[in-house]
Amino acid sequence: MLEGLQDVESALRRRSIAFTAFSADAPTVFAAIDHRLALLVIDRGYLPMQETWRRDVADATSCPIVEVEADVVVPVDVASDHLETAARTIRPKIMKQIDRFVVERSTTALEHGSWGDSGRNVELGRTRGAPTTIDLSDPSAAVAGLALADEPGPVEGWTGGTTEARSRLRRFCDEVLPQYSDRRQRFDRNGSSSKLSPYLHFGQISPLEIVLAARSSGAPEDEIDAFVEEVVVRRELAINFVVNEPKHDTFAGLPDWARSTLDAHRDDERPALFTAAELESGATDDVVWNTIMGVIRTEGWVHNQLRMYWGKQILRWTNTPEHAHRTLLDLNNRYFLDGRDANSFANVAWCFGRHDQGFQEREVIGKTRPFTDQALRRKGDLDAWVEANR
Ligand SMILES: Cc1cc2nc3c(=O)[nH]c(=O)nc-3n(C[C@H](O)[C@H](O)[C@H](O)COP(=O)(O)OP(=O)(O)OC[C@H]3O[C@@H](n4cnc5c(N)ncnc54)[C@H](O)[C@@H]3O)c2cc1C
Repeated sequence: MLEGLQDVESALRRRSIAFTAFSADAPTVFAAIDHRLALLVIDRGYLPMQETWRRDVADATSCPIVEVEADVVVPVDVASDHLETAARTIRPKIMKQIDRFVVERSTTALEHGSWGDSGRNVELGRTRGAPTTIDLSDPSAAVAGLALADEPGPVEGWTGGTTEARSRLRRFCDEVLPQYSDRRQRFDRNGSSSKLSPYLHFGQISPLEIVLAARSSGAPEDEIDAFVEEVVVRRELAINFVVNEPKHDTFAGLPDWARSTLDAHRDDERPALFTAAELESGATDDVVWNTIMGVIRTEGWVHNQLRMYWGKQILRWTNTPEHAHRTLLDLNNRYFLDGRDANSFANVAWCFGRHDQGFQEREVIGKTRPFTDQALRRKGDLDAWVEANR
């Protein structure tokens, strides 16, 4: 996130716009700078936590606030005004509207920059406890200056920011998009999907920019459609879920059929039981699962097919479905770089039946969709992947 802010700072500097990063809570910051504000423009956030941040800002500010919706392609309330059952119910609504919103943007030339002679920092008010600012020139030093827990530590192989997101997007459009529908199944190959989810999560690239790039890439239409299905339809279905289901972070937020089938199998004997700590450290009796968990811990990201297998096993290894749901969500949000996202809540809920249909009834998992290692083996060379990643 700090690397991303460093990018924002340079981009704004090129347009002569001043930028200051503060390290403090919103009321403290806004109490100090309120007298300097003419208009506040913010992006819409969909999770309760993001709504609280915005409410706190609004309470601490006396200037007008404009909220824009830039984290989706079709504004959420335009797409649908209720909780959608599945991709099939929201897809036609989104696709009917999408062309209205997929339009090129332009940059407004500024008449006056704000960089000015007085340096880049906003002049702070004389409030007590004026917030400290963050020096973004060295993001690692900035992280060290924040009181963060040591674990999870930094992951390798990722650089934050819009510049990096755009170069990934270009590479993806050139090399992967032309065969996206096949390649996105291949968990055993590098470069099988865009790996843009952390950048989307931190707002370092917009879904609109991604769709515009995909549409002008020259890739076959059906491949572009397959990608739009993920980055627009599935992603915005997840946002529809968190906006319209207040219990999206608990077992109680699952559909009735899923809760009742899992309830009916509550007392089934589990093949094995593992504690949350054993799961976190990858100490189950399943080498595939342990390897996936190890990659999640060290890299902060894993392929979608592997996430499906990873998420689906926990029900079979925990004593109640409520505990299974909580444990999976905790692991997801603690370790994934793209965690704590609408996608996190929707996809964890998917492992328990959300946005899905019933299947033949089985022990423990009831009528929820099974996902075994056989399903993975059909998509790629699982043994080679495990060997390379253990
Ligand atoms: C158990 C489980 C947990 C997951 N947790 C998260 C999470 O915490 N954060 C997260 O962003 N995604 C999560 N996903 C969804 C998906 O696995 C990731 O979005 C995807 O792997 C990201 O890789 P990518 O950017 O290369 O995807 P690409 O295939 O390149 O797709 C482009 C974008 O489309 C969106 N997308 C792709 N698949 C899905 C999907 N199934 N649902 C909603 N949007 C999708 C993402 O924003 C993604 O970045 C989870 C899936 C499962 C099964």
